[in-house]
Amino acid sequence: MKAYDKLYINGQWVEGSGKEMSDINPYTGETLFTYKSAGKRDIDAAFSAAEAAQKAWSKTTVAEKVDLFERLLGVIREYAPAIEECLMLEGGSVAPKRGYEAATCAQMVRYFMQFPAQMEGKLQPSDVPGQFNCILRKPRGVITVITPWNVPFLLALKSILPAIACSNAVVLKPSSETPASALMLAEIFDKAGVPAGLLNVVTGGGSDIGDYLVSHPSSDLISFTGSSEVGKHIAALAADRICDVSLELGGNNAMLILEDADLEAAAEKALFGAYFHQGQICMGVNRIVAVESVYRDFCDRFAEKVKHLKAGDPKDPEVFVGPLINAGQVAKFEQAIESTVSAGAGVLVKGSTDGNVVSPWLLADVTRDMFSAQNEVFGPVCSLMCASDEREAIEIVNDTNYGLSNSVMSRDLFRAAKIASELESGMVHINDQTIGEEFHVMFGGEKESGLGRFNGKWVLEKFTTEQWISVAE
Ligand code: NAD
Repeated sequence: MKAYDKLYINGQWVEGSGKEMSDINPYTGETLFTYKSAGKRDIDAAFSAAEAAQKAWSKTTVAEKVDLFERLLGVIREYAPAIEECLMLEGGSVAPKRGYEAATCAQMVRYFMQFPAQMEGKLQPSDVPGQFNCILRKPRGVITVITPWNVPFLLALKSILPAIACSNAVVLKPSSETPASALMLAEIFDKAGVPAGLLNVVTGGGSDIGDYLVSHPSSDLISFTGSSEVGKHIAALAADRICDVSLELGGNNAMLILEDADLEAAAEKALFGAYFHQGQICMGVNRIVAVESVYRDFCDRFAEKVKHLKAGDPKDPEVFVGPLINAGQVAKFEQAIESTVSAGAGVLVKGSTDGNVVSPWLLADVTRDMFSAQNEVFGPVCSLMCASDEREAIEIVNDTNYGLSNSVMSRDLFRAAKIASELESGMVHINDQTIGEEFHVMFGGEKESGLGRFNGKWVLEKFTTEQWISVAE
């Protein structure tokens, strides 16, 4: 992979005026490249380029916008191998994860290509004789997109594509763990002929430049994906200047297993949901709450599968569990395990640490008060919890500050659907695990898992605003 060591502002590759930083391979520890991050003047330049570009872009026709998306589709398909390599080298993504993410990038371009033609308004009747009322749908302006490191291409595109399709411009700040992903996206847009300034990428640490970006007067909406802790801080900063936010935050998701569930299917699905991308997925299966009559049977079946997951080098196609993103995350993960086990959780599968690679852990008899039951643990562990009956299982699932995604396993679909409606999460999957996304279907969390909805008509509404124009005779 080449060194993505510049910023992308107003269609130009420029050296940052901020701190010297490094992009590190989480598996080998090797420095992929060093770069100068954005300083305040780079951020100012990115916003003024975005403001100017947005004004011109909003005047282009639907066909011109769709043309850009068609060119983008061609280039992003050509880049699929490069995207996969980047995901492996800077993000530690194993083969199924990087393959999924690279393929999904093109799918997203194809889906959001419809948006320019869907900027629909409304005509409303009036109480004033001879008058009529128009509701005009308009772009927000400049959208600041801030992304995490775990699914860096997909999560950046999930905001950039609807933003641009709805006539907005974007200033993107990726996580400092994954700058190359964002800059490769800029390269893809550049090759597709994106107008200068419509997409700008500024790199740097959240604690260094984050507040400046969020507080920038030219930023008309903050689309943030990341932890609930940083999300709360961003919402408070944005509130100070009445700037709207879209927040996709952390999760502590559960699979609820009823006595009539297909336990083998539940164990197979949970294996993927809990350990995909080494457990670093906001929607991953963090907890499994099974009713007492099937709890032990499920624990045995699941432990047998978890024991056989291979951890190690993400280059190895047999490996399902690659490295955590950095040593800090490994230390945080180990503390979470230590705290839960010392409070009395059983260890069904004991993981081990080698560099940033942590092989899977499986904890049993976890109770509501324990650390892993209450917190998002971003790593390869799943917590098994026993409920006396359906009612208690629902209470346990809901006993968390998060509310992103849950699942219910049962052969009785009506009963499962009734339970799903009682779960306090933005998404519930029946007879599946908790990770799922379809770009035309609503996506988002309740409680501390987020604010606002993504995908489909929901993101179109969020990334636009409406204006009442009355027309009198
Ligand atoms: P994080 O909150 O630490 O960082 C996310 C982004 O915010 C990064 O770009 C970071 O640099 C930036 N940031 C940090 N401080 C900032 C500040 N003061 N102002 C502005 N920006 C700032 O999250 P992370 O560790 O990168 O990602 C993991 C978290 O993201 C997990 O909690 C996970 O659940 C969540 N996540 C949620 C979703 C979702 O769709 N709900 C998707 C992926 C990840």
